[in-house]
Amino acid sequence: MDCGQQYPVNVVIYTCERCGGLLDLCHDLDTLRQTITHDTFDQRLGTLEAPYNSGVWRYKELIYPNVSNDLIVSRPEGNTNLYRAPKLAQWAGVETLYLKHEGENPTGSFKDRGMTGGLTQARVLGMKRVACASTGNTSASLAAYAAIAGLEGIVFFQNKDIALGKLAQAIAYGATAIQISADFDRNLELVREVAQALDIYVLNSVNPFRLEGQKSIMFETIQQLRWQVPDWIVCPGGNLGNSSAFGKALHELYELGFIDRMPRLAIIQAAGANPLYRSYQTNFTEYEPMHAETVASAIKIGSPVNARKAMRTIRWTNGVVEQVTDQEIMDAKALIDRQGIGCEPASGCSLAGVRKLVDAGVIKSNETVVGILTGHILKDPEATIDYHDGDLKGITATYPNRLHRSEPNVDMLRAILEPHETASA
Ligand SMILES: *Cc1c(COP(=O)(O)O)cnc(C)c1O
Ligand SMILES: [Zn+2]
Repeated sequence: MDCGQQYPVNVVIYTCERCGGLLDLCHDLDTLRQTITHDTFDQRLGTLEAPYNSGVWRYKELIYPNVSNDLIVSRPEGNTNLYRAPKLAQWAGVETLYLKHEGENPTGSFKDRGMTGGLTQARVLGMKRVACASTGNTSASLAAYAAIAGLEGIVFFQNKDIALGKLAQAIAYGATAIQISADFDRNLELVREVAQALDIYVLNSVNPFRLEGQKSIMFETIQQLRWQVPDWIVCPGGNLGNSSAFGKALHELYELGFIDRMPRLAIIQAAGANPLYRSYQTNFTEYEPMHAETVASAIKIGSPVNARKAMRTIRWTNGVVEQVTDQEIMDAKALIDRQGIGCEPASGCSLAGVRKLVDAGVIKSNETVVGILTGHILKDPEATIDYHDGDLKGITATYPNRLHRSEPNVDMLRAILEPHETASA
């Protein structure tokens, strides 16, 4: 992406050998302009035919055009719902808010959209083993997709603060799971070193084939809006793979004439894991990795590998970077949960971020906003239960739903259930 050096797709490579920069998959946009239209993708909606029944491979021409369909490793993923959320819109201060629920993917997070691309490429390359370092969801997804592909999956976990649902998935899907006494950022360095030495394919989001798959979140959202562009897309930022993929997707749609203007992207970081936000304050002239701390474990990342691509996204989309506190994250999550939609903590950033940007006058109340919910409510049950119990360190349960306890007798149950006045959110 920096020096323009090109490499063929059939070599194992993650960064540029000349300048050390990140790699992009380059599509032949001039040819694509002649060969695909909105209809190409609309005609595949509802098909039962693989791989086009996947919400990723429906857009195959824009993801990995020449790959043989026989090599594609798919669950299939995507086809997630885009919810209208009028109550949450009101709370955040906008007229129209949609939530794109990526927690509805096969393993419960958007990582599946990247993993289908990554595992497919592992098969193209003939790799036998695939690995990642992960805060959890990438591991769960890698474990599942490696199992489908018949390859060995290897996952590096940190030794604390792993959401239970994610750890359980990686083990159950049969990955070789290793807990290491280091944080995510160190584990990512380790996995890259070990993979190099042992001929293992790395599937962290430094891998450009993953980002190609994740672009489909934008394609699908805009197709669900009948190819009408929202004013804003708002998403959490951790390792910044999604932010990077979204920028590339929107840039390509625009270049191809599929959309006639760019939406603006707002990347929301946790205040305790906000290196991109800090850099944004300096117009990206300075950038400092940091030690990360946040209740939203999926975005507890202090040295995001895709920072440079995310900066490019901000330039391409005239985007913004905002930060929200853990308190704001958990309160927003509680409200999303309470609508019957539900998400994991990191996803709370999207709604909390909309509200904050409306308050700051950056998002106008008449603008259309799509917030991305990145993970499923069941991923991190401990955080949810502790919040409602008032047990989450440093966080007040602003919207609690306390568990009642009762002896098995009708009088006590009546006392609980007799209609009474409650404040409702
Ligand atoms: C991975 C993940 C994120 C962070 O996405 P990045 O692409 O790393 O910025 C946010 N939320 C959830 C639930 C995730 O699994
Ligand atoms: Zn280079």
